[in-house]
Amino acid sequence: MKQHYEVVIVGGGLAGLTLATLLAQSRHKASLGITLLDAAARPQILADDDISLRVSAIASGSVRLLESMGAWQLISESRLSAYESMRVWDEKDTPDGAAALRFDAAEFAVPQLGFIVENVVLQDALLRQLDTTNVALRFASPMRSLEQSGQQYKVELEGGECCVADLVVGADGARSFVRRAVAIETRSWPYAQTAFVTHLCPEREHKATAWQRFLRNGPLGILPLADGRVSVVWSTTPDLAKRALDASDATLGTMLTNASDSVLGELAAAGPRGAFPLAAQHAQRYVLPGIALIGDAAHAIHPLAGQGANLGLQDAAELAGVLDAALHQGLHPGDEPVLRRYERARKGANATMLHFMTGLNRLFATDSRLVAELRSAGMRIFNRSGPIRERAVKVALGVR
Ligand SMILES: Cc1cc2nc3c(=O)[nH]c(=O)nc-3n(C[C@H](O)[C@H](O)[C@H](O)COP(=O)(O)OP(=O)(O)OC[C@H]3O[C@@H](n4cnc5c(N)ncnc54)[C@H](O)[C@@H]3O)c2cc1C
Repeated sequence: MKQHYEVVIVGGGLAGLTLATLLAQSRHKASLGITLLDAAARPQILADDDISLRVSAIASGSVRLLESMGAWQLISESRLSAYESMRVWDEKDTPDGAAALRFDAAEFAVPQLGFIVENVVLQDALLRQLDTTNVALRFASPMRSLEQSGQQYKVELEGGECCVADLVVGADGARSFVRRAVAIETRSWPYAQTAFVTHLCPEREHKATAWQRFLRNGPLGILPLADGRVSVVWSTTPDLAKRALDASDATLGTMLTNASDSVLGELAAAGPRGAFPLAAQHAQRYVLPGIALIGDAAHAIHPLAGQGANLGLQDAAELAGVLDAALHQGLHPGDEPVLRRYERARKGANATMLHFMTGLNRLFATDSRLVAELRSAGMRIFNRSGPIRERAVKVALGVR
């Protein structure tokens, strides 16, 4: 490990890898010494590996960003599942009812609304791009300590190796070590929900549609996979999530067929299972002199609209742009006024999305008949609202 880097990125999830790739391809790449550290082993995927548990809905705006870096083109088409429609409905309604929301790619004159992709496939594509750059990649290298040393930070790894950085970027997820080491506080809103995730075989074709049914305990998302299966993200009580984890295949199939109101007929268990406790969380600051937080380290939101990874990619793009402009003006990458430009551009937008998702989740998790009727009326109005509806969909797609 070199003794000094201009930028140390902690975390090789989607946000950290995207930032590293953008910086490594920027016009100042020759003068930027960059290392990316991750506590885990390098993620790998083989062509005939089964579709892995963790998949994300990647919006069109994020696809464009990944294309601009040459990473998207490295993904085999057999691992991409385009979704062309979305259906969102309340448990008291039907997916074809007047209060159900329906979005089709055709009405926005785009070939698809986005893609369902395995997280590990995206990581692998970004890493293969990074292999062609001068970014020093270090996996299985957890950070042990982070200390300020004058205008720089001293980074120490578990094995005792050290380096000094002008800028340390915390891309190390919701429980960010970097954020805690520099004492940036967060605000949290627990959801009292756990996301149960698995793949299922539907009786009927998924028709390249992403389905979302709002149930009283939380939303059930059903995402189309490339091989005809569906990935479900069932946000529900921790108790029900545990029961789903422990259920026999037959019982799990029945639980999810019922939860989905048989929208795709019978669902049969057909893949690994996992559970992720959910909470909304927002860092009170994204930057300090020599420090920046991106992705889930800065904000964690409900997966109901599939926005978390997309927001992390937007953070990475904004920070890379701000750093590129600053370096062009001869400024230091760790200067607080430079980093504040990034914070100003992203914090408000992320807060809006976070509060919107939290509010939406609450709105559907109520028993009140009055609220249910207002909600249903609101959805019908939204369906007919023309420009408002179009604007909301464009924000969700990441195309402005
Ligand atoms: C069930 C579920 C479904 C979701 N679905 C979607 C979706 O459809 N679309 C979407 O956009 N988002 C979705 N999300 C959100 C999305 O998964 C996250 O927002 C995104 O993966 C966060 O990426 P990240 O790079 O910020 O952090 P992470 O992916 O958490 O990566 C952090 C990295 O930092 C490393 N690290 C941690 N600590 C250290 C340390 N001390 N030293 C070194 N390395 C460290 C970790 O090993 C890890 O690799 C979903 C989330 C959940 C829970």
